[in-house]
Amino acid sequence: MDDVVKFHGHLCDGLAVGFLGLKEALLQLYPDGIVDRTNTRIVSNPSPCLTDVAVYLTGGRYQYNTFYVNKIPSLFIVQRLDNNQTLQIKLREGVKPKEIDSLSNLAVDNKLSSCELEHLRELENSFTDKLLSMSAKDIFEVTPLSNFTWKSSLSKTFVKTDVSNKKSPPCVIEN
Ligand SMILES: [Zn+2]
Repeated sequence: MDDVVKFHGHLCDGLAVGFLGLKEALLQLYPDGIVDRTNTRIVSNPSPCLTDVAVYLTGGRYQYNTFYVNKIPSLFIVQRLDNNQTLQIKLREGVKPKEIDSLSNLAVDNKLSSCELEHLRELENSFTDKLLSMSAKDIFEVTPLSNFTWKSSLSKTFVKTDVSNKKSPPCVIEN
C-alpha cells in the first residue's frame, strides 16, 4: 500500500478501495500468493485512483494490450491469462457513504465552496480509515465472469520484449 501511495501521489479513499479490492481478487486468482504479473490483464473503471492501482498491482499496461479503461459497472475486471479465470470486483451496497458520491459529482463540476470541499475531504478521510480497519470480505463482492470479452478500442502494436524468452527452459551445462 505504501508503494501505491507513492506511485499515485497521495492516499485517498479511491486508492484504498482499489488496493484492497484488487488485492482480494488477485489472491483468488493466485491462491499461493504469487501474482504472475506477466500473466494478468485488467480493465479498470476510469477513476484516476483506480487506474493507478490497476497498472501498479497487475503490471497491466495499455501499450502491451494488458490494460484498458472502460465505464464498467464494477471497479475492475481482472483476468488470469493461462486459465482465463476472470473476476469482477464491486463495492458492496451500503459500504460507501452516499454523501461522498453526491458531493464528489458536484466537486467535479466545480460546484462546491472551499468549506464544502473541506467537508468532503473529511468524509473521504474517515471512509479511508474505515476501509483500512474492515475485512475485505465485508467491503467487496468478487464474482466470476464467465463470458467476458477483452475489447480494447485502442490500437496496440508494441511487443513486450522483456519477457519474450520467458518460456525458455533453464540452462543445463553438460560435462
Ligand atoms: Zn486519489
